[in-house]
Amino acid sequence: MTPLPKKKRTRRQRGHNRAHQSLSLPAISTCPCPRGITIRPHRACPMCGNYKGRTLPGSFALDNLLETRQTAAAVATEDSES
Ligand SMILES: [Zn+2]
Repeated sequence: MTPLPKKKRTRRQRGHNRAHQSLSLPAISTCPCPRGITIRPHRACPMCGNYKGRTLPGSFALDNLLETRQTAAAVATEDSES
């Protein structure tokens, strides 16, 4: 026999319980690349593999614009210094 509640819960008790049952939206952030793709936080961008300003190993559909820009800037500074 299944356990049954001994007494009916009042509307107040029911509402008090349901006040904590709302769902929250998942946390989102945007890839710092100029494309601005929406990603989950603490995860690599699925399109360009950008994670903490570098590209994770693997094959991705798009280039990591952030890294290409940084390397281009580094090359430009190296050229100006020499
Ligand atoms: Zn990205």
